[in-house]
Amino acid sequence: MQIVRVALDLPLHRFFDYLVPESEMVSAGDVGLRVRVPFGRQSKIGILVELAQASDIPVAQLKSIEAVLRDLSPLPADWFRLSEFCAAYYQVPLGEVMLTTLPAGLRRIHPPKARGSRRLTKAPPPHDAPTLTAEQMSALATMANAGPGFHAYLLHGVTGSGKTEVYLRLVERALAAGKQALLLVPEINLTPQLEARVTARFPTAGLVSLHSELSEAARTRNWRAAHEGTARIVLGTRLAIFTPMPELGLIIVDEEHDSSFKQQDGMRYSARDVAVFRALERGVLIVLGSATPSLESWANATDGRIPARYTLLTLRERAVASARLPVVQRIDTRREKLSDGLSGALLLAIEKRLARGEQSLIFLNRRGYAPVLACTVCGWISHCTRCAANLVLHLADGRLRCHHCGFEAHVPKACPTCGNQDIQPFGRGTQRLESILAERFPRARLLRVDRDSAKSRKQWEILVAKIYSGEADILVGTQMLAKGHDFPKLTLVGALGADAALFASDWRSPERLFAQLMQVAGRAGRAELPGEMLIQTQFPDHPLYAALVRHDYPAFADEQLKEREQAGFPPYSSQAMLRAEAPQIADALAFLTTARAWPEAVAHPAVTLYDPVPMRLARRANLERAQLLIESPSRRALQAFLSAWCHLINSIKASSRLRWHLEVDPLEF
Ligand code: ADP
Ligand code: ZN
Ligand code: ZN
Repeated sequence: MQIVRVALDLPLHRFFDYLVPESEMVSAGDVGLRVRVPFGRQSKIGILVELAQASDIPVAQLKSIEAVLRDLSPLPADWFRLSEFCAAYYQVPLGEVMLTTLPAGLRRIHPPKARGSRRLTKAPPPHDAPTLTAEQMSALATMANAGPGFHAYLLHGVTGSGKTEVYLRLVERALAAGKQALLLVPEINLTPQLEARVTARFPTAGLVSLHSELSEAARTRNWRAAHEGTARIVLGTRLAIFTPMPELGLIIVDEEHDSSFKQQDGMRYSARDVAVFRALERGVLIVLGSATPSLESWANATDGRIPARYTLLTLRERAVASARLPVVQRIDTRREKLSDGLSGALLLAIEKRLARGEQSLIFLNRRGYAPVLACTVCGWISHCTRCAANLVLHLADGRLRCHHCGFEAHVPKACPTCGNQDIQPFGRGTQRLESILAERFPRARLLRVDRDSAKSRKQWEILVAKIYSGEADILVGTQMLAKGHDFPKLTLVGALGADAALFASDWRSPERLFAQLMQVAGRAGRAELPGEMLIQTQFPDHPLYAALVRHDYPAFADEQLKEREQAGFPPYSSQAMLRAEAPQIADALAFLTTARAWPEAVAHPAVTLYDPVPMRLARRANLERAQLLIESPSRRALQAFLSAWCHLINSIKASSRLRWHLEVDPLEF
């Protein structure tokens, strides 16, 4: 009887042995096929990973494979290596990595039948390539001269500098060489735009997109086209990094700094980092592009002491000469009495835009009407009963809503504690800002763009079309509006409430703030009209704002990196976070304490384990959460430590209501 090893989606660090019945005999070339196997009382889809000589389990106890699925050609060897890398780096069982990164349609026993035929998106008008600017040309020449093989580039270019055009030229070169190209973007919302642009340039390349809003059948079909090589261009969000592509020749990660590349549950991977590994392993070109690179990537490209893995390419000027960068100004709000949170200078600037028929965008990164509802008589505040957080007032639909667990309640007519009828919203969110502006500018057409007004991609597209066609005068929006869109009539951006992020306890928050402000600023004045950004702040002299005024990302990044180095934070150290949650905080802390007490951990020369602490938002959805930070100056030492430690953690006996996970390279604290 033939014996094979099968990877299954189970939280166990091992494979499973099965017998192969006569009728299904396999050969070495079948490794990588999917198989259906009995497991417990059900069947599961697994992946054939190895033909085995023998099994540790007596043959009499082995079960037989039910079927070898030959509808899909075997998963290739490089896909196995990619899965192995992720399993080892993120400390996740290999079977889990392999199965969860496949489209659901390929790992289910009964996938839903595809309905209808392939929906063809309207073919956009063919698009001629513009003549390259000198900077674009020089960036492309550098990459072309590097020759074949692995090369990693960080393409740093201000918004509108023509990074996308550089990507398109690289894709053109890859296609001409008979290669496939993989383009990663952070947000589903950004795919239709880029998809249209890429298809217009390469109408016959069989571009497919891959993201989580596709139907299961469509995702499977697109994935299969990439795997079979009929799709020459794959455009997708983070999950697309795992798509097998036999002739992969180019990987592009656009907006590489964006935190959407980080998966926040299951296997907590960074698609950007996985992409770099994949390019290295496949020996191909990778380009990470951004106007505000992550500090990790910046250090990788500029700090001579870090063995430089990326080559820096810079686009300083906007591609269209007339589209100058917006003028950024600070409005010192200490010197002026604001009315409803708005300064005179900002109101005046909006008025001017209205008179000229141009658009303004007021950026406030807080959705809802007000962050909290409170009783001024007894001190009651709208608190989430399940989280250590306040319920946000959403006046538009008359609800109080928790932004952490989704809990909802009616807005009470009176204080639930003392009966006072005069309960007050405190602070301002986008909804309130919208009504304040509507009152001030009664003739202006207002449009609010946040996750409440653009819940689905469809709604989002409708809003974008409205802005584009000039059906709105004043936009109120969160960071949703910051990314990627050109609005030709938008010439003013006002930023409110930015200061909070300057002093937030998360040391990455200045980095995020700078990127966000730089991106929203980039929305203003992209076409023929010059743009202006006004930042309301009580800290106008803060170096972050000073760098922003000069559009000087390098100055900001270098300053931040100095601080990081002094504090020993990444990229000058590597981190991992062990988190536990349980109904009682004591249980979560006890679990972490047990994990920390492992003698090898305590005594490890290169790895520091900090004390377990409750998380900043300690209670969420009725679970108490605690975390333990692990840090090392050496990534390799940390990795070696984690893989040994993980086995120990797995053996800790904890209550069945306790959940834990390990996150490597955590982004949020
Ligand atoms: P980025 O991706 O850096 O934001 P894009 O590639 O989208 O920049 O370019 C910004 C705008 O400039 C687009 O409208 C694009 O069509 C145009 N553009 C890019 N490169 C050139 C060029 N070489 N000549 C003329 N226009 C260009
Ligand atoms: Zn009260
Ligand atoms: Zn809650």
